[in-house]
Amino acid sequence: MSSSSDISIKEEMVSVCHRIAQKNMISATDGNVSVRTENGTFYTTRSSVHKGDVTVDDIVEVDRYGNLLNGVGRPSTELKMHLFIYEQRPDVNAVVHAHPTFATAFAASGQSLDKPVFPEVLVLLGKIPLAPYATPSTEEVPESIRPFVQKHNAILLANHGAVTYGATLQAAYFAMEKLEHAAQITLYTRLLGGERELTNDQIKKLRNISEQSYGKKVHFDVSDDQKSVTHFTESDVYEILKRVLQRLNEK
Ligand SMILES: [Zn+2]
Repeated sequence: MSSSSDISIKEEMVSVCHRIAQKNMISATDGNVSVRTENGTFYTTRSSVHKGDVTVDDIVEVDRYGNLLNGVGRPSTELKMHLFIYEQRPDVNAVVHAHPTFATAFAASGQSLDKPVFPEVLVLLGKIPLAPYATPSTEEVPESIRPFVQKHNAILLANHGAVTYGATLQAAYFAMEKLEHAAQITLYTRLLGGERELTNDQIKKLRNISEQSYGKKVHFDVSDDQKSVTHFTESDVYEILKRVLQRLNEK
């Protein structure tokens, strides 16, 4: 029998699926969402359902090998990628995969989003790498993201879409929303002549403010050799942005 916390997790997953659909981050039955449970099992959306129509009955439970434990239907087709991320990142408790229009356009044109342009994107996501093409739903997908999983919480998947993850489902979803927004603005910026990158000094200032505020290192660079990634809640992000703007206004 499901506990009330299990039901609220499933309801939160349903809400995220609906938001992904409303924001045109998928078409038809694309995309999938999963959450690690306190028991070490995983809730995931079942395959072949439109995320705009998902209900709690479309959430199934699987073990770490992907075996179905509870629920009706087959687990998400990209479950291998989700389970790989959970295995590699014990700090991650939720994964969101979607095909957002602008992010996927970058992924399909072979372009990452690794230029330092937007302070809030750098603080929240760092630079966003592009994983090489892998056949969807196969073992190729986890292999393609292997070089990036430890150091990033948002990855573009070449000719496919994007995956984001975090300590909470909200963090994983916000990362996807932020990624897509950054991709959209970057495209428009290029129509207007190209983005102006932040300078090393500006990046250093951002890093210092983030680290002073939280005492943790923030991963800003694809080639950064930093081992850990900081996770932020919604209120953390607002607080960081407030402090960044205050500091910038002081100059
Ligand atoms: Zn996909």
